[in-house]
Amino acid sequence: MEAVDVTTPRGRLPHCEFDRRPGLARAALDGRTAIVSNPTNIRWLTGFGGSLGWVVVGAERAVLVTDGRYEERAAADLAAAGLDGVIELEVRYQRPEVVDAVVEAATALGGGPVLAEDAHLTHAAWLGLAGRLELEPAGNRVTALRRVKDPGELARMALAACIADAALAEVAPMLDERPTEADVADELALAMRRRGADGPSYETIVASGPTFAARPHHRTGSRTIVPGDTVVIDVGALVDSYHSDMTRTIVVGDPTTEQLAVYELVRRAQAAGLAAVRAGVAAKDVDAACRGVFREAGREDWFVHGTGHGVGLEIHEDPFENTTSQDTLLAGDVVTVEPGLYRDGFGGVRIEDLVTVTATGCAPLTHLPKDAPCLRSPPTT
Ligand code: ZN
Ligand code: ZN
Repeated sequence: MEAVDVTTPRGRLPHCEFDRRPGLARAALDGRTAIVSNPTNIRWLTGFGGSLGWVVVGAERAVLVTDGRYEERAAADLAAAGLDGVIELEVRYQRPEVVDAVVEAATALGGGPVLAEDAHLTHAAWLGLAGRLELEPAGNRVTALRRVKDPGELARMALAACIADAALAEVAPMLDERPTEADVADELALAMRRRGADGPSYETIVASGPTFAARPHHRTGSRTIVPGDTVVIDVGALVDSYHSDMTRTIVVGDPTTEQLAVYELVRRAQAAGLAAVRAGVAAKDVDAACRGVFREAGREDWFVHGTGHGVGLEIHEDPFENTTSQDTLLAGDVVTVEPGLYRDGFGGVRIEDLVTVTATGCAPLTHLPKDAPCLRSPPTT
């Protein structure tokens, strides 16, 4: 595998367009007052990354409510997003007072029944607010705004993907040295940190051998990787809270005929999936493109998950590409295409890339070679 040069300094990344987001939210909420409680939506809307916060958005004003632990951080995050003065900050020092402040702000901002994030609030939290305000479900109005990424978001995800590419290229040769799965995951985490990642995007999956590689979301453990194994490595980096997601499958030593055949089938299915990605396409059609290749080869029963998912501030977010998806791909969505085949006794093969959806197709954010399952470069004669 070729090394990837990671050269983009963090400071030169374009800004995320925080200034547009309160306006986008107001439009999506039809100018009605809403309580935003999903922390990922709050991060997207205000830049605030603390664990306790509420944002009350009204037609004219918006208020971020948090508790005393986050007073400085909330002010700093709002300032970094260029939203100080645009989004007001309200700090209370006891948890019940925080909810009081949310109710007061929602009442002050007015405008009839208040929208609240029913997909996020617990039943108890909903009932608590509903005893004091007239509530209506907001559905995914704010969540949906996160799908289409702006240039600053794309740059962060591209850097995260590039860091994970480079880390795997650096670490892959150690598979020849009989490491444990956990050794490989640890080295990947270090390699990503050294290249400027904030950390791994999620718990890195290193799934090896005839049993564990057959589990798509195997929990990386203490098994020693040996020649003959298929090793599924699913790794991503985190940059400014934005995720990347990528999987490569490596065969340690010389691949068998069956390993090569299964790999080639997954490679063809993934190519078919990528070719199907375009703005306006039904997400389930991307899944169907991959699944069709497996069906033709009589291997559909080895494909035990959906084809992909959106990625952004969350590692799994809308849109989802699976057999029942109702989503249509939008230009600016960032999605994975990750078909795989798994069978206990054989192991597994998955190939996953992260791509930006465009009007005419897609642009990859992950670039690590995937033509062959081999660890070493083919001999040159
Ligand atoms: Zn993945
Ligand atoms: Zn994924």
